[in-house]
Amino acid sequence: MPYTRRSFMRSLGITGGAGLALGAMSSIGLAPAVASTPRRFQAPAAGDLIGKVKGNHSVVILGGGPSGLCSAYELQKAGYKVTVLEARNRPGGRVWSIRNGTEETDLNGETQTCTFSEGHFYNLGATRIPQNHNTIDYCRELGVELQMFGNQNANTFVNYTGNKPLANQSITYRAAKADTYGYMSELLQKATNQGALDQVLSKEDKEALSSFLTDFGDLSSDGRYVGSSRRGHSAEPGAGLNFGTEIEPFGMSDVIQGGIGRAFSFEFGYDQAMTMMTPVGGMDRIYYKFQDAIGMDNIEFGAEVSGMKNVPEGVSVDYVVDGKTKSITADYAICTIPPHLIKRLNNNLPSDILLALDAAKPSSSGKLGIEYSRRWWETEDRIYGGASNTDRDISQIMFPYDHYNSDRGVVVAYYSSGKRQQAFESLTHRQRLAKAIAEGAEIHGDKYTRDISSSFSGSWRRTKYSESAWASWAGAGDSHGGMATPEYTKLLEPVDRIYFAGDHLSNAIAWQHGAFTSAQDVVTHLHQRVAQTA
Ligand SMILES: Cc1cc2nc3c(=O)[nH]c(=O)nc-3n(C[C@H](O)[C@H](O)[C@H](O)COP(=O)(O)OP(=O)(O)OC[C@H]3O[C@@H](n4cnc5c(N)ncnc54)[C@H](O)[C@@H]3O)c2cc1C
Repeated sequence: MPYTRRSFMRSLGITGGAGLALGAMSSIGLAPAVASTPRRFQAPAAGDLIGKVKGNHSVVILGGGPSGLCSAYELQKAGYKVTVLEARNRPGGRVWSIRNGTEETDLNGETQTCTFSEGHFYNLGATRIPQNHNTIDYCRELGVELQMFGNQNANTFVNYTGNKPLANQSITYRAAKADTYGYMSELLQKATNQGALDQVLSKEDKEALSSFLTDFGDLSSDGRYVGSSRRGHSAEPGAGLNFGTEIEPFGMSDVIQGGIGRAFSFEFGYDQAMTMMTPVGGMDRIYYKFQDAIGMDNIEFGAEVSGMKNVPEGVSVDYVVDGKTKSITADYAICTIPPHLIKRLNNNLPSDILLALDAAKPSSSGKLGIEYSRRWWETEDRIYGGASNTDRDISQIMFPYDHYNSDRGVVVAYYSSGKRQQAFESLTHRQRLAKAIAEGAEIHGDKYTRDISSSFSGSWRRTKYSESAWASWAGAGDSHGGMATPEYTKLLEPVDRIYFAGDHLSNAIAWQHGAFTSAQDVVTHLHQRVAQTA
């Protein structure tokens, strides 16, 4: 019977990771019994699996990003000999923290060297972690210190271009929310009182709804929104008889037509809702911990894979280090190289697999970090973390969540994707900076143009060894996964002894969690296969 990952999963009646493979092994007498209740993946502790599989088994892992390092780490726990080949000279792949000394030549041919002050950085790729993601569990296991990441801040601004009312005005999120929620509540209250909802609501329903709306919209006793202290004050309340000065609300029609609430739903997203977390000192801290755990003897940096073939002895991989071609043969390979780059390798993959890889389309995204020698966003705008939102090409301005109240900091002057990022992609760094400053100044004023000490930008489409921010599966719409398209599903199976892993093979594309779950899934399958054939 051909051995497929799907049949394995079906036979278990579960989907999970290496922790679950332990359960599977217990059923064939290779590991101690574990509770049979299905549970979430739990990374096995050191020693759980080591020695349980007879013989020596080797796995070569192509790529030292999250999925590659997670695969190596978990396989090592189970006693496999692993070799990670990574083209870059650092771990983490698209998890890349930019700090003093970071140097990169992009595919436009421009070289940048980061000169941020010591201790300052920004994450050009992954930057935040939702509480539910297993990335948090690896941080716990590896000892990576976490801190809160402000995904939302009442004091940051919305500012949208155009001719609509309230266009080109910087409005705090707190004012935009108070007015939007206030007027929406007033309108619903009116509709309810005028009997428009009598077909669907009972008298008791209407009373309960009215009480909710009065509180939610901060409505007056006659059901109107007439402004609220939630909007903020032009003069802060203080001691004695200083009651502060509330800011008048915008008009209802302006609020509706201006669409100042268009970004509110961002934080409603399952994976964007507070509390969000991030490692202290940069997201790349996670991958230096993986590197320590796996051991430098088992990782080769600067190793650009040029070929990967199934051969009778296993999998043969060619790679280039310092201009010299080397080869390695292992029992199995896990290929975590981005899908659209795999066909460039000298390979003997079947044509249907190459076609399936082609369905993972590359996408644009990028960021530019500016180090300011004065934290004007804190002292003048009272902004501590979070982001301002706009429909300009910069899309958003993200404020630092570290070094609060110190004398300098790195602002992410844009984090944009799709067409808005394409407007930056082909520019030189200087041109990107000039555009970012001009658009940022339209939102935060003249101070945005001053006290700049250095900057660094990156565009993932123009970054070697990535050439994409994340995969977008043809036929899967805007979903964060492959939506079980035939191409996606095909790549979930190994091609003889070659496995594919990466966030593109998960339902959490563009999240480290996706890369980890994909790695865990592959490790589980490979481990079970070895256990059954050993
Ligand atoms: C702009 C941006 C923002 C993001 N934000 C978040 C976030 O906030 N939170 C979050 O959790 N995730 C975020 N992500 C997603 C996260 O970075 C990815 O999910 C994760 O990096 C995927 O890991 P991977 O191992 O599948 O792929 P990669 O990280 O791409 O790793 C693949 C590895 O293969 C290597 N490689 C390529 N070609 C070769 C070759 N020929 N030979 C050898 N090695 C090669 C690459 O150098 C790389 O190290 C973001 C990504 C981007 C781009």
